[in-house]
Amino acid sequence: MEPLLDVKGLKTYFFTEAGIVKAVDGVDFKVEKDETVGLVGESGSGKTVTSLSIMRIVPQPGRILAGSIMFEGEDLLAKSEDEMRKIRGAKIAMTFQDPTTSLNPLYTIGSQLAEVIREHNKDLSKKQVTEQVIKLLEMVRISEPELRIKAYPHELSGGMKQRIAIARALACGPSLLFADEPTTNLDVTVQAQVLSLLKDLRQKEKMSLVMITHDMGIVAEVTQRVQVLYAGMVAEVADTRSLFKKPSHPYTEALLQAVPRIDQRKDLKVIPGNIPNLIDPPSGCRFHPRCPYAQEICTKKVPPLEVTDNGHLVACHFWRNLSLAGA
Ligand code: SF4
Repeated sequence: MEPLLDVKGLKTYFFTEAGIVKAVDGVDFKVEKDETVGLVGESGSGKTVTSLSIMRIVPQPGRILAGSIMFEGEDLLAKSEDEMRKIRGAKIAMTFQDPTTSLNPLYTIGSQLAEVIREHNKDLSKKQVTEQVIKLLEMVRISEPELRIKAYPHELSGGMKQRIAIARALACGPSLLFADEPTTNLDVTVQAQVLSLLKDLRQKEKMSLVMITHDMGIVAEVTQRVQVLYAGMVAEVADTRSLFKKPSHPYTEALLQAVPRIDQRKDLKVIPGNIPNLIDPPSGCRFHPRCPYAQEICTKKVPPLEVTDNGHLVACHFWRNLSLAGA
């Protein structure tokens, strides 16, 4: 069966005054039907730009330069802007790190949800739309939905705003949802509630979910498969359990070592250095300036993506020789 989403060789660059930022540089990315995939990496790794490219909402001065984005068997890069508008929301939706960006402070949440429903279902009566809004609010576990529809975004807590943003994204029953850092800025209890909501909704609504996050704890809890990006390129792709047990890429190992564990008293390791400047990225393997296992070839040759013995896809010259620590 063909995957729900199949991205190949995606390149999205930003043409800035300082130079060309190669934010996504040849990324392949697959999502199967009904699965939850984690798109992981530090900020600047290309995970958000990858999803904005798939939605075709890359902000200026960014441009998709190469690749193909097949969704439900159709090439999204061949679609007109009008066709994409119909796909966005109805088939592919996204929630953003800061839920206030998708909510208009001047309108009640009821009218904002109604607007999205009407946009894709023009024949519904006012009563039917209100019923659907209430259903959506119940779906995202908002209590007293009949009262809440009259609330303005500023009257809601951060967790509630995130749930409304999720409701807005799900208003038209998309088959694929990108959740971009959905729990950032929320306290731990609310974080757990939002994650459990997303997990339940994915199952009930029979959609696929892409969790965009830098937090490996979230990845462990919610996802079935993980794709690790580093500096705009794929570092590793694997089944979540296998990736945590036995990572094949030094960057994945470093991400796992930086996860706090309540059952282990170990020192957290900080990954030395920063994501490189993507105007002039390091030659060869882009991770080499930060990699403790780097050798000369790493500075010269880009490692190809290869399949390991346990089925991971990994871009490292030395995956056969390294015995990396899991979580
Ligand atoms: Fe490290 Fe070299 Fe592997 Fe890159 S190719 S991750 S620098 S060992």
